[in-house]
Amino acid sequence: MTKWMIVQITEAPLELNDDEHSLCLPIADVEQATGDELLNLIETDAYEQGKQVQQFLFINHIKRLDVTISEQRSHDKEPDCQVIFDGKDPLTFITRFGAMGIAIQQAHCKGHKQDFTPLNKILPPHQGIITTPAVQELSCLFAAMCPSYELGNQLLAIALQEPKLLSTSKSERLVESHAKSVRQQELSVANEILKATQETEIPSLPLQASPTPRRSRLGDELLERVS
Ligand SMILES: [Zn+2]
Repeated sequence: MTKWMIVQITEAPLELNDDEHSLCLPIADVEQATGDELLNLIETDAYEQGKQVQQFLFINHIKRLDVTISEQRSHDKEPDCQVIFDGKDPLTFITRFGAMGIAIQQAHCKGHKQDFTPLNKILPPHQGIITTPAVQELSCLFAAMCPSYELGNQLLAIALQEPKLLSTSKSERLVESHAKSVRQQELSVANEILKATQETEIPSLPLQASPTPRRSRLGDELLERVS
């Protein structure tokens, strides 16, 4: 008999459909297996279903935010705005647990005769596809540890169990643009240091300011072990 796991989000906004705030997943039948086969079956099932739950949570967060922000019907060029909804278009998010296309509300301002995407107000700048900071960092990390972009990208795919997450060329562009911005940052810090006439004018850290700390628990543990 198939066993099921149910994930339910409480206090879902009314605008979302029933299937958007609950998820029902079959759990693998492990009664017949033993030894390594048993462990492999249990691990694979937990990993695969876990990924479905992660995707479900990610999509739910994005959809809730999309509903909330779209409902404000705000176009940044007040006054004389008259915002109407203009259907939904899919936006692709590349995350640690897979690539997802999520339908995002589009809008049109009659006052300014402009199309716009309300959610873009809070999303990072992007051209069609959004790659999360975690995937960007992992791409850079694997590329730095490997003799080629191709191998780095293959190892990333194996580590995340996501063979189709990023093409090698996309991964290469990501790493290059990251490296470029780091070099620019270093150069501007170096210039500031050279221009400084006294110590107080020297910038404190050659790092990009981040409004919130993004170090993971794993990062903290690793640092504790090496220090
Ligand atoms: Zn407007």
